[in-house]
Amino acid sequence: GVNSRTPLIAGNWKMNLDHLQAVAFVQKLHWTLKDAKHEDGSVEVAVFPPFTDIRSVQTLIDADKIPFALGAQDVSAHDSGAYTGEVSGAFLAKLDAKYVIIGHSERREYHSEGDDIVAAKVKASLKHGLVPVICVGETAGDLEKFGASAVPVSQLEAALEGVSPKADIVVAYEPVWAIGSGQAATPQQAQDVCAALRAVVAKVLGDEAAARTRILYGGSVKSGNIASFMREPDVDGALVGGASLVVDEFAAIIRFEK
Ligand code: PGA
Repeated sequence: GVNSRTPLIAGNWKMNLDHLQAVAFVQKLHWTLKDAKHEDGSVEVAVFPPFTDIRSVQTLIDADKIPFALGAQDVSAHDSGAYTGEVSGAFLAKLDAKYVIIGHSERREYHSEGDDIVAAKVKASLKHGLVPVICVGETAGDLEKFGASAVPVSQLEAALEGVSPKADIVVAYEPVWAIGSGQAATPQQAQDVCAALRAVVAKVLGDEAAARTRILYGGSVKSGNIASFMREPDVDGALVGGASLVVDEFAAIIRFEK
């Protein structure tokens, strides 16, 4: 769309690639993208490896000056202390992580993360200087019962409660039925919900925040459909799962042409 928002292409690797594979992958992706437009800052690329890979990927992108941002796939709602198995936003910030995915449908479903936990994690990430990538989306059942935007809108309202209008956030609209299914939303469906989500940002955080906040589409994004999503005025990028694990495919998504 015609706006000043820098598109963000984010690769959510989920529980794939160990730290050695992650380093090899990032090197190959960087090599494949030589002279691509992300090098001049016109598209931002971010990778979201498993926690155990983050230090290795950080070291690589720092040493080789690779222009990818780093993110984590989850964060604790707590700062530190007796929370076995959890990872603090403070630790992620120390590793130069910029982003953290919060409320991915797989966390909501398999780890019973509800709107309250999502809201607490959004606050924790902002407190530690991380940009939360707040994931919202309706299931197939929700879509049938309530239409496309009702559930994502209420999830985003809950996630933004008490957030400062100045906060730097990213929103990802990921219809659950589109994730990993090969059945992406249509560009029009994505646009309609992303516009509804931008209206939520405007209502809760104000017009300035709504104008600068990036809203991504996610769910079966691939090189063959990325351009059609990026043509929509309220879609500012993509959160990519499966296709972010294949170097040539992810590189082609990053090189999208409108
Ligand atoms: P997918 O996953 O691209 O494999 O559909 C998207 C996501 O879960 O973020």
